[in-house]
Amino acid sequence: MPAVVRVALPVPVPSLFDYLPGPVPPAPGSRVLVPFGRRRLVGVVADVRDHAEVEPARLKPLLRVLDGTPLLDAELLASVAWAADYWLGAPGEAYANALPLALREPRPLPELHEEAWTLTTAGRSALDAGSRRGGSRDLLRFLAGADGAAAAGTLDAALPGWRAAARRLAAAGLIARAAPPPAPAAPATPAPPLGPEQRAAVDAVAASFGRFQPFLLDGVTGSGKTEVYLALIAQALAQGKQSLLLVPEIGLAPQTVRRLRERLGVPVEVLHSNLAEGERARAWLRARSGEARVILGTRSAVFTPLPQAGLVIVDEEHDGAYKQQEGFRYHARDLALVRARALGVPALLGSATPSLETLANVEAGRYRALHLRARPRAARPPQVQIVDMRAQRLEHGLSPALLAAVGEAVARGEQALVFRNRRGYAPVLLCHACGWHAQCPRCERPLTLHAARRELLCHHCGHRAHLPATCPACGAAELKPQGQGTERLEQALAACFPQTPVLRIDRETTRRRDAFERLLDGLREDQPAILVGTQMLAKGHDLPNLTLVAIVGVDEGLHSVDFRAGERLAQLVVQVAGRAGRAAKPGRVLLQTHHPDHPLLRSLLAQGYAAAARELLTERRLAALPPYAHQALLRAEAHQRAAVDDFLAAAAAALPAGGDLRVLGPMPAPMPLRAGRARGQLLLEADRRGGLHAALRPWAAALGTLPAARRVRWSLDVDPVDL
Ligand code: ADP
Ligand code: ZN
Ligand code: ZN
Repeated sequence: MPAVVRVALPVPVPSLFDYLPGPVPPAPGSRVLVPFGRRRLVGVVADVRDHAEVEPARLKPLLRVLDGTPLLDAELLASVAWAADYWLGAPGEAYANALPLALREPRPLPELHEEAWTLTTAGRSALDAGSRRGGSRDLLRFLAGADGAAAAGTLDAALPGWRAAARRLAAAGLIARAAPPPAPAAPATPAPPLGPEQRAAVDAVAASFGRFQPFLLDGVTGSGKTEVYLALIAQALAQGKQSLLLVPEIGLAPQTVRRLRERLGVPVEVLHSNLAEGERARAWLRARSGEARVILGTRSAVFTPLPQAGLVIVDEEHDGAYKQQEGFRYHARDLALVRARALGVPALLGSATPSLETLANVEAGRYRALHLRARPRAARPPQVQIVDMRAQRLEHGLSPALLAAVGEAVARGEQALVFRNRRGYAPVLLCHACGWHAQCPRCERPLTLHAARRELLCHHCGHRAHLPATCPACGAAELKPQGQGTERLEQALAACFPQTPVLRIDRETTRRRDAFERLLDGLREDQPAILVGTQMLAKGHDLPNLTLVAIVGVDEGLHSVDFRAGERLAQLVVQVAGRAGRAAKPGRVLLQTHHPDHPLLRSLLAQGYAAAARELLTERRLAALPPYAHQALLRAEAHQRAAVDDFLAAAAAALPAGGDLRVLGPMPAPMPLRAGRARGQLLLEADRRGGLHAALRPWAAALGTLPAARRVRWSLDVDPVDL
């Protein structure tokens, strides 16, 4: 008879909580309702043990077992436990990420499909005969108009108060609960015959079905990686297996979903955080029941149950969006690999610009690399040319050579993209007379000028300020915008090319839902146009008439103190360049810089990403930096700098002595002040991951008990990507 149930509760405490079971102890993976202080919380049973670590007399009993059969199967339970241990999160917070919100409430599980209602034959006759009035008639009419059936959510929006009418009509046999929508029997559109490299990649992965093997699918944009995913998902489907496909952003999802649905002819579940909670829970449950065969999702979809798993794919595996930057700081790509191992299925990581971590794993023989070098549709890979902007007369930051190239492209009736990774009009507003510049009082960083909104905005904390008419320091009238953001480039290009539509694509112009897709849909394929945008433009959406890509303002990336800046810059340049010449027309890429001789740019342009990545890896090895060393970062912030310093000093003192741990700091964070809070950090490094974790585990557990911890907000980040 087990004496104690260990429960993960959604509280930021790095431990499980013990409770006394009732007569029938719940199985691990079941949800339970428990008393916690004065509250009642829903938790997940992580473990059932023979004896408690605390005295049984001090334990409270469970209030209720919510699941007869466990909600999480053994694999998911083990993977979540692994994740909580590896990223040193509170177990309850790991589970809170794994379970959709609607499943963390003390209620029975929602049904797999949303409640929907349909007209019966009698109902149709009643409508035709006009025998019902008021709300009843409205509902009959609505259902008739909605192809005979409508979901509860649709009815809630269209006919508030419809439930009363539904009860009456159902009792009279005029409407009935609709069956779940049948799987579309849509004939799958045929796949194009795969090229030899694609064939080889598909065969290699398919040969590993049924066992864990990680693969890197390394192929430039447009080389047909998605076709490889589709072929493999189709093979998994044919074997009755589920596939999970992770993408970094929902922006990428609509196109991919369409492509999957058309090709595979089966329902494709889409899981992302913008989904309504009820829908998300139902999609999660359909995956758990095995009904969902193909699941496409962003970061948190890595927690989808996969009882019949066949394959796990991570597209754009290098993308930083896979790392959660708050709360439970897991990395979805890394967790996807852990799950594939636990599930005994191959994991396929795709990218045109693989992360150095993944390349190091290939180098070490842990992953197998598959290469796609040809681009099936495109004429030839775009040539990247440097535009040396030293001693040039610049037009709002644009060099004559760059403007000439844009002019030539639009004169040929083609489209050009000007890439600048900064929104707003100008990143700095400067007084020419006295040197004052507009600064965020809460971050001590320059405010970005948004000219159209006549506003100064802090891109770090959201602080807003009015645009001063004169210099607040000296009263001079000459306030000068310094540097260029997308808004300024848009204006400059519109002035240079008054006949050509100029389209700006950044977070400001695409705030509304689907705005991004709609803006690009509005672009006539056969018409000239100029696009200006941030990295939102680096991916998604095919633009067949886009033949010129001009990259400006990336020099900051060459001089950053962040050791990952070079890798990010190389990835960004290659990703953005990949947008040019995707169709039959050849593409051209210009990179405007003040540092044409920078070694990274030179190797990237002369020999491509793989060569640049090799050099970056050599540098990392020599400097003993990740992926050749392992890091954890303790961050702290508070209104008082002294509180941060005290906490970090106490944390440093609590570190175990010895081992191969290197301790850097305490030191101020790269942004020492943000949103009015002082920030500091302590960086830990070790050559071996095991050594790092052995030191971290007891330390992480002790941090919360330090008296100084009460006066700061702190977090511990394992494998941080932003130092
Ligand atoms: P990636 O995912 O690597 O960017 P995609 O799979 O989207 O590449 O392929 C790029 C384009 O080439 C798409 O329009 C796709 O339909 C087409 N394509 C890919 N493979 C083939 C093939 N074997 N035959 C014909 N067209 C292909
Ligand atoms: Zn001034
Ligand atoms: Zn600010």
